[in-house]
Amino acid sequence: NYILAIETSCDETAAAIVKNGSEIIANVVASQIDSHKRFGGVVPEIASRHHVEQMTVVLEEAFAQAKMTWDEIDCIAVTEGPGLVGALLIGVNTAKALAFAKQKPLVGVHHIAGHIYANRFEKEFTFPLLALVVSGGHTELILMKEHGSFEVIGETRDDAAGEAYDKVARMLDLPYPGGPQIDRLASVGKESIPFPRAWLEEDSYDFSFSGLKSSVINTIHNAKQRDQTLKKEDIAASFQASVVEVLTEKTYKAANQFAVKQVIVAGGVAANSGLREAIQRRFADTGIPVSIPPLKLCTDNAAMIAAAGTVFYQQGRRAGWDLNANPSLLLK
Ligand code: ATP
Ligand code: MG
Ligand code: FE
Repeated sequence: NYILAIETSCDETAAAIVKNGSEIIANVVASQIDSHKRFGGVVPEIASRHHVEQMTVVLEEAFAQAKMTWDEIDCIAVTEGPGLVGALLIGVNTAKALAFAKQKPLVGVHHIAGHIYANRFEKEFTFPLLALVVSGGHTELILMKEHGSFEVIGETRDDAAGEAYDKVARMLDLPYPGGPQIDRLASVGKESIPFPRAWLEEDSYDFSFSGLKSSVINTIHNAKQRDQTLKKEDIAASFQASVVEVLTEKTYKAANQFAVKQVIVAGGVAANSGLREAIQRRFADTGIPVSIPPLKLCTDNAAMIAAAGTVFYQQGRRAGWDLNANPSLLLK
């Protein structure tokens, strides 16, 4: 079957067509990064306006790439949440209008389910499976016992990993989005500053990044007061080492405790070269296969929404005309 998917939860307007849940036929992403850069982050009102302007352009481009017509589409999937409500509404209303006009079934998809299913283009899922989700708004360890079932076993108590990257980048006067910038600097810097590791309680799979963030602020501040110069590269490398070590070790421990058959990494921070390498290395001798999407499927796109949408469609889930954007939708 062929699923058309729409994703507008944040600052990328995206449409994709996917065959049988695992083959990308078309994948179009219009990024708004340049429009938000000068504000140092995503401005919700600007994001909504861009989605309105780009939505039909992106959809037409997807059909052009696929060389397909509406007759061949079996279902429309759309991100219903979580995200910016004004941004989500553009996608949801476009999907509803198209489903009505073209007489197609409609499926709502949780954005994080989409990030997880970006891995379906890499490898077929083997359950039980552990997903480390690290993105701009989420940091979670999710246990999946079957397709479409998600059990959150740990999550961040404050900032998300991507949020921490973006905030630390701002302290270092690096442009938005900061994650890729820190990643680049970290690769040439030295781990010379012993930033804290937030292990939390012995048996907890939760995360916390606010202490690390404060520690980075204090370190920069103290160095300034003493007229010392710290290299940005070294701050980046030391910060990244703390984030990567905690993410990797907690994933390793949970993978063993729950005896999973596969580990996957998902979300924008899964693009981080330090994390990709550390996770692969940690699991190298365990016999547990690790899957991480290629860089452009780590950050927001609609192909991942189509992949998750295909599974929901096959399970018989359908959205009604009352489908609505839900900025705080829970994953279940
Ligand atoms: P969510 O998916 O939680 O709703 P989002 O959609 O805004 O949030 P994503 O698009 O999944 O987030 O990811 C964007 C985040 O990933 C940003 O915080 C960005 O800095 C981070 N990021 C992207 N590339 C890298 C990288 N190479 N290293 C670290 N972080 C990165
Ligand atoms: Mg984004
Ligand atoms: Fe995302």
